[in-house]
Amino acid sequence: MFEKLTDGIKYRNMLNSLLDDVILSSGFMQEITPKSLGNGVTAATIVNYDTKEIKIFVDKGKLKIACKGEFVLLTVALFHELRHAYQYKEMLLNTASVEILCSHLASSDNRDYYLQNYKYDLAEIDAERFGVIHAYDYLRKIYPDKESFELVLEYLHSKKEKRDTLYLLINVDSISNEDSLRKAFDEVYEKAKCQEYSLLDVSYLIRRTKDPAAQYIVEHDHEDIYYRFLDMKNKLERDKIYTAVYIHEHPEYKYLIENNSNIDILELEKLLADS
Ligand SMILES: [Zn+2]
Repeated sequence: MFEKLTDGIKYRNMLNSLLDDVILSSGFMQEITPKSLGNGVTAATIVNYDTKEIKIFVDKGKLKIACKGEFVLLTVALFHELRHAYQYKEMLLNTASVEILCSHLASSDNRDYYLQNYKYDLAEIDAERFGVIHAYDYLRKIYPDKESFELVLEYLHSKKEKRDTLYLLINVDSISNEDSLRKAFDEVYEKAKCQEYSLLDVSYLIRRTKDPAAQYIVEHDHEDIYYRFLDMKNKLERDKIYTAVYIHEHPEYKYLIENNSNIDILELEKLLADS
């Protein structure tokens, strides 16, 4: 007896071929883990700065899908993770942009900072932009162009409706074609880079004892840094000072910034040395 090709099986087969064609062939996916990566997490990308290994973990158990919407969601998620893998690769090759490098280093070992700043996280916005655009290209190989674009739009609207914080700044209503899709993501990336913080956010972060960078500032009574925090205008500046603290605490990872011409290591060192 042949198994009836239900929609669920059809979508699962398509996702498996996406995994084979794109993710596996990228060379990053060395492990597929059946155990849970966390609540609702289907895939995650992990870098080890010591061994210089980058791995995309995919929980294949979570790829049991029943509808086209979920298929689109997982397609975006896989391309999103692939982008994180490329970001880490560029960091290891010393070619990453200052935004991506500092975004990752600032939140290394610092879950509080990552969560607190998630909605303006430049590495996350960059990964989502890549995820959505490449998912659209991939869908076009399966469905007609118009339908593929509508599927992407449905995905974006559902993210916005679910109040996914990454979509806080994005104007989904302005998206009507591929050009405006790219433009909306480019704009949100620039907006997030310059996003100003309220003093309330700053003093909250400073008081957080679990946040290693804030802890460092409090413990060392670095008044200059504290006032610099108060002066801080945007996410990128904040990422830079957190990166400076991270490298100070982990000099073994200095190699990630000292050979990258996109980042001024003297500027980072000054942030700490001045105090
Ligand atoms: Zn991500």
